[in-house]
Amino acid sequence: MKFRNFKMVSYVVYGRGSFNQLDEILTPHRNENSPMIFLVDHFFENKPLVNRIPLRSADKIIFADVSFEPKTKQVDGLSNQLKQEFGTISGIIGIGGGSVMDLAKAVSLMMNNPGSSADYQGWDLVKYPGVYKAGIPTLSGTGAEVSRTTVLTGPTRKLGMNSDFTPFDQIVLDPELTTNVPVNQRFYTGMDCYIHCIESLTGTFLNEFSKSYGEKALNLCQEVFLGEGEWGSEQDDKLMMASYAGGMSIAYSQVGIAHAVSYGLGYLLGTRHGIGNCIVFDKLEEYYPDGVREFKQMVKKNKIEIPQHITSGLTDEQFDTMIDVSLGMRPLWENALGSDWEKIMTRGKLRALYEQL
Ligand code: NAD
Ligand code: ZN
Repeated sequence: MKFRNFKMVSYVVYGRGSFNQLDEILTPHRNENSPMIFLVDHFFENKPLVNRIPLRSADKIIFADVSFEPKTKQVDGLSNQLKQEFGTISGIIGIGGGSVMDLAKAVSLMMNNPGSSADYQGWDLVKYPGVYKAGIPTLSGTGAEVSRTTVLTGPTRKLGMNSDFTPFDQIVLDPELTTNVPVNQRFYTGMDCYIHCIESLTGTFLNEFSKSYGEKALNLCQEVFLGEGEWGSEQDDKLMMASYAGGMSIAYSQVGIAHAVSYGLGYLLGTRHGIGNCIVFDKLEEYYPDGVREFKQMVKKNKIEIPQHITSGLTDEQFDTMIDVSLGMRPLWENALGSDWEKIMTRGKLRALYEQL
């Protein structure tokens, strides 16, 4: 048995208002004549947060358009633009949801690795460490702030750059930045965390490390999505920690069926990660009976509509594409169903599942 030797984020700051420490945090990482790049979710364009970014001399803010989730082309475009404009940079700071954090991680790596980011989609293909990178979530749930991957859609697949060079050097967890996230978005991204917990806690890869974080994250999700009272700062604080702990849980186990199936939707239809996971999880009673029952309570209590019939009218070829992408996520299936998973999840069975979505 070979145990995973798990590379973690190097520095973590947590607390309301901790964003104000960013200047102090970045100072030791500034190299003379090369700027810090702030890659900021386009949601914050013209919002007050932008004026709080500690810009020095040649620093630059780039607003990242995350109308679509990150693509290898977008990563290559950004890193080539930065190489042309500055040669090298001191670091890149991603401020936004999972999409922006993943973009920042990938651009950091591509500043120091040749070729296209598509060449590194997979496990441990990245050759050299990236430039300094920090992540500042403005949505809670994906766990992208702690993970060793950056999920990208490339020319032939949707797969992360998984490597020991991928985790951030620093994360700033300031729940204040998640105030006023629209209810639906907060729910979809929050459910990403809830689903991470269920998939990790019921998986065959489970161990005490994953369980400890997964149970804590699950409890926090239950408190915020099923608890009494209005949503407020306490819920934002808890959900940010749930995201972190959920990410730590899957880092030492794996996700499962909702993710494997949702990747197919994402690849073919561009369905976003959070909502896609909800659309799939809603139909997984057979595999996660308790989790799905509780999920439905959360949907009801928070008055969310989960989209239905999004695959109706697709061609056989399109179903095959989704099935290929999904079955390619072998570790996820193995975690969910054990080493005999291929006998259980046949193409026919998966097709029937996709047709229900
Ligand atoms: P997102 O980053 O795609 O953002 C969703 C929407 O919310 C965008 O329109 C964005 O502009 C907006 N937004 C961001 N912050 C906001 C705020 N404070 N208030 C209002 N709107 C805000 O959503 P997400 O669910 O955080 O991230 C999904 C992405 O994360 C996917 O690309 C997925 O593949 C990736 N992901 C990565 C990992 C990982 O380990 N690397 C894990 C899970 C998911
Ligand atoms: Zn996820």
